[in-house]
Amino acid sequence: MFDKILIANRGEIALRVIRAAREMGIHTVAVHSTADADAMHVRMADESVCIGPPPGIDSYLSIPAIIAACEVTGAQAIHPGYGFLSENATFVQIVEDHGLTFIGPTAEHIRIMGDKITAKDTMKKLGVPCVPGSDGGVPSLAEAKRIGDEIGYPVIIKATAGGGGKGMKVAENAAQMERAFQTARAEGKSNFGNEEVYIEKYLTTPRHIEIQVFGDGKGRAVHLGERDCSLQRRHQKVFEEAPGPTITPEQRARIGAVCADAVARINYTGAGTIEFLFENGEFYFIEMNTRLQVEHPVTEAIFGVDLVREQIRVAAGLPMEFRQEDLKITGHAIEVRINAEKLPEFAPRPGKITQFHAPGGLGVRMDSALYDGYTIPPYYDSLIGKLIVHAQDRPAALARLNRALGELIVDGVDTTVPLFHALLQDSDIHSGNYNIHWLEHWLETHLRG
Ligand code: ADP
Repeated sequence: MFDKILIANRGEIALRVIRAAREMGIHTVAVHSTADADAMHVRMADESVCIGPPPGIDSYLSIPAIIAACEVTGAQAIHPGYGFLSENATFVQIVEDHGLTFIGPTAEHIRIMGDKITAKDTMKKLGVPCVPGSDGGVPSLAEAKRIGDEIGYPVIIKATAGGGGKGMKVAENAAQMERAFQTARAEGKSNFGNEEVYIEKYLTTPRHIEIQVFGDGKGRAVHLGERDCSLQRRHQKVFEEAPGPTITPEQRARIGAVCADAVARINYTGAGTIEFLFENGEFYFIEMNTRLQVEHPVTEAIFGVDLVREQIRVAAGLPMEFRQEDLKITGHAIEVRINAEKLPEFAPRPGKITQFHAPGGLGVRMDSALYDGYTIPPYYDSLIGKLIVHAQDRPAALARLNRALGELIVDGVDTTVPLFHALLQDSDIHSGNYNIHWLEHWLETHLRG
């Protein structure tokens, strides 16, 4: 086992990793930009190293600075958290070339899954069901139109290198194809340096269901059920739950087994998420994330496992602590993402926190790096906390969420907490009756008016 690990991240996820490491008796090194000198992850780690000026590109994304921080402190392994360098295959290669361990999958797996066409092709060959669409890249508008006619409109044109909701355009009919095709290519090129696009049937009423998988890198893998992340704004998740309110035990067992088998066959290491759209009882693969996800705590709650501990163990060459038959679901968990943003525009609102009080009590977990007097810097994303509740069933979890949100105090900046208070008044949230487009429509009618 490692003596010391470095966390190449900030905010709540850096704390999350430090907590797991400390329970395992592992020393931790935080890295930080000059803007984060007073951040909680720096206070909480055993050691810290300043790696550069505020912009992410000069600090949390600076590979030389992070490798140097490992060498200076003697850290043997790096946990990347999510975002920043977590899905950067070049980084993983450099980490390994320096004799350090990357706590996550191999560079090769990250590369395969980071290119959406290759990812889809790989998954298809491994027997994972995919959204109908083009066979690989679509080089010309003429070809795009031919495929549109063949699979039927609406279709979605996606940049193979896309991510974070960028590089995707819907064409409702043949007339919209030219514009959607050119825009997706242009966004792919300007945001990700790759203009290759592919086409999929656009599903009109799906839910977003993702399967948590975990592999030991030696051909053994398990699944930890699904998370339903259908409540999204601009393709970004805001409210996640496990188990999915519409998924039956048979559906879970079937898709879970397909996913675990797929990652076992490629000798996948560590935590991963296979994302699907789910419509009329069918699953359609859209992408795989080769890292720990923001919403991982809902899975931890219902299975009673620590995914970060498991990531560290497997990276150190130890076996997984659980087998498929040990993994049983207890109750229901919900996470809401709390951002420092002003409604209704969701405009980022960095600033000074004058008062912070985290909710507590049975079944409540607050993952946040806030504290009284902390100043949220303007350079990074606006997530300031995740509130996770766990209870015996979905109605009890919703009641607990309502109770916990009522206890939360974040003064000094605007937050998205009022959104969740309002959502909890809506009968569709209580019945679980929504798809990936529901929240956008709801926001139109409830927040703008
Ligand atoms: P990103 O990598 O940018 O997150 P994804 O491929 O994961 O892109 O898709 C993000 C979201 O876009 C999905 O959760 C879903 O809301 C929507 N989406 C993607 N593909 C389709 C599709 N074929 N039909 C309908 N919606 C889609």
